[in-house]
Amino acid sequence: MFSKRLKNLVPYVPGEQPQDRKYIKLNTNENPYPPSPLIDPLLHEYNSGRLRLYPDPAFVALREKIAQRYGIEKSQVFVGNGSDEVLAFCFYAFFDSLEGELLFPEFTYSFYPVYGDLLGIRYKKVPLAPDFNIDLSLMLKNEPSCGVIFPNPNAPTGMLLSLEQVKTFLNGYRKDRVVVIDEAYIDFGGESAVGLIREHDNLLIVRTLSKSLSLAGIRIGFAMGDSALIHALFAVKDSFNSYPANTLSQEIAGIAVSDTLYFERVVEKIIATRNRLSKEMKQMGWELLPSSANFVFAKKKGFHGKNIYLRLKERGILVRHFNIPGIDEFVRITIGTEEDTTTLLEEMRSCF
Ligand SMILES: *Cc1c(COP(=O)(O)O)cnc(C)c1O
Repeated sequence: MFSKRLKNLVPYVPGEQPQDRKYIKLNTNENPYPPSPLIDPLLHEYNSGRLRLYPDPAFVALREKIAQRYGIEKSQVFVGNGSDEVLAFCFYAFFDSLEGELLFPEFTYSFYPVYGDLLGIRYKKVPLAPDFNIDLSLMLKNEPSCGVIFPNPNAPTGMLLSLEQVKTFLNGYRKDRVVVIDEAYIDFGGESAVGLIREHDNLLIVRTLSKSLSLAGIRIGFAMGDSALIHALFAVKDSFNSYPANTLSQEIAGIAVSDTLYFERVVEKIIATRNRLSKEMKQMGWELLPSSANFVFAKKKGFHGKNIYLRLKERGILVRHFNIPGIDEFVRITIGTEEDTTTLLEEMRSCF
């Protein structure tokens, strides 16, 4: 009854979305603040008659807004149902392990090996540097490879590579294979590599509206790169589902992407809270990796990560623990509101 393919699937395990009790939810890097207030009028006045028709399969209005915001052309923008879908299409379109493996960091977004396995792409996990950052020079030594993918900042470490480091890597890496940089968290303190897509036609930047734009619920992500790469992503999309982004989501995304003022205020608040949380946790004896994301990756001597996770959960606070040797001492804690953070720090003081 079931295919052989199905038997070999090892699915990604998303963070818990508990429906039973109310937690302070700091486990899936959602934004604690609402999205742009300019979205509400659209929803209140929405004419449901518009939902009768299929959405625009070419996402034209949204791609124009994204292009405008980042100073690029519409032909350099692709849109998908969350950046997870965009990433899956990238694996399909660009990575082919006939001539070497796909490279990604040893500890990184755990969807990458899932897509690799799903599509039969061989991959190699490249160890992190001793400071836990991504080791781009080690990536360059791992030839032949059939492409590279890494998040910047990395997840779940939160550590950032500078634009200079990214440039050096791109200059040293082969030009005939695609480099995907997953910039899910770049807005929280990093410098985007989107400005490099003109010089590097093998560079693709993937973004999501789920984190900095507070819109995890609408499932919109996008990619920016040379129009040939974008063309390839459209070919994959149109071989799978012509309409991955629904009408309402496309319109909401267009509003959010254009409201830069509100966005900047939200990001500033999250960075300020991250700095406060990091400082107070360090004072309590926690060890934290330097974060440029909307979460911190932290451990405390004498406690296993699983133990920290369980104790906080009992107290109504959800954080994320990864049962992976090498990082299993850590927990990843999403930056919440100032109020959530005060509660979190109080609970930490009393139980660790
Ligand atoms: C959250 C996250 C994504 C997925 O974002 P969606 O757009 O919600 O699918 C992709 N990459 C990384 C590294 C993430 O942390």
